[in-house]
Amino acid sequence: MSSALSNIFARLPVSFSHGQGVWLWGTDGRRYLDALAGIGVNSLGHAHPKLVAAITEQAQRVIHVSNLYEVPQQEVLAQKLVALSGLTEVFYSSSGSEANEGAIKLARLYGYRNGNNHAHIITMDSSWHGRTIATLAATGSPKAREGFEPLPSGFIQVAYNDIGAIEKAGKDEPRVNAVLLETLQGEGGIRPADIDYLKAVRKLCDERGWLLMIDEVQSGIGRTGKWFAHQWADIRPDVMTLAKGLGGGVPIGATLMGGRAAGVFKPGNHGTTFGGNPLVCHAALTVLETLESEGLLANAEKVGERLKAGLASALAGVQGVNEVRGRGLMLGVELDRNCGPIARMALEAGLLINITRDRVVRLLPPLVLSESEADEIIARLVPVIKQFLADSPT
Ligand SMILES: *Cc1c(COP(=O)(O)O)cnc(C)c1O
Repeated sequence: MSSALSNIFARLPVSFSHGQGVWLWGTDGRRYLDALAGIGVNSLGHAHPKLVAAITEQAQRVIHVSNLYEVPQQEVLAQKLVALSGLTEVFYSSSGSEANEGAIKLARLYGYRNGNNHAHIITMDSSWHGRTIATLAATGSPKAREGFEPLPSGFIQVAYNDIGAIEKAGKDEPRVNAVLLETLQGEGGIRPADIDYLKAVRKLCDERGWLLMIDEVQSGIGRTGKWFAHQWADIRPDVMTLAKGLGGGVPIGATLMGGRAAGVFKPGNHGTTFGGNPLVCHAALTVLETLESEGLLANAEKVGERLKAGLASALAGVQGVNEVRGRGLMLGVELDRNCGPIARMALEAGLLINITRDRVVRLLPPLVLSESEADEIIARLVPVIKQFLADSPT
């Protein structure tokens, strides 16, 4: 029988019947170590009893009512997000793209309200903000954009980690009113921004009255060992977007606002049908509470250090390995050549990972990963990388 699915995803030939912690069981009867967590989504791992109980209990009461009514679960979760971030307002949606779409609309409206009705947003080379038409225009990936022109105007891409490039773009285009960036690029190949750069961007945005909008869709919710990766630089954005790890598997996105971004959205300016329904908000609150009560931020930092150091030492001196980098449980191994086939080789070795930016092996394991499980990732991944390099000339 031919597939009835749109031929959009290059899928690996495996499906899963159930999971537990960092482990997934394939319908082929094999057990896989999940070092990708559904691309950074399953922050509590699979079948965490607290999350399962929260979702079950909420589903038995009410799943969805729409934003025509008050949703107390939204308020409880927002109070928590505001306390963790230092921002003051939350808008819920259902994905990372949609969270960023909200941030982009907010920047436009912020300009409009201040007499700049063609607001321009500076974004970064090799950034990733989503696949909707506007977020694609913001995304620094020519490959992802190809074939979808015309894209909305008003986005200026500059070199990442280069404060001079942002200053220059702001001089060349006086309608700039926001900077959108990831503090640790995910799809872009696990590329961290320098702390000094982030502080300088914050300062520049303050001087110019621009919004600093930080996309924490992949790096947020404890993944790097802080609630949000920008907290390593001790800065606070005006707008922050979240999604992936926030719901532990249920689809929820959030656009947080504070500072000069507060109060910009007024009734009728934006909206969504699904966003922030009782089920996803209750699940997300449980994810945050569980990360806290089980000490999983500290765990991500500690086990992440061990995983990174272990990979670096096992791969030291291996010809073809450029760098092991990242923070907490958001790690990448960059090779000197394209390495797409590694995902399948790892699968055969019982390990789930993926490849991003053609030559970076990406690890985003659940934050419940233990030290022995981290060692098991190393034991499974290192031989695969070595085998691949031996078989594949540059
Ligand atoms: C995945 C990702 C997005 C897009 O999220 P979707 O849920 O796929 O729409 C946006 N920004 C970053 C940094 C991401 O990693």
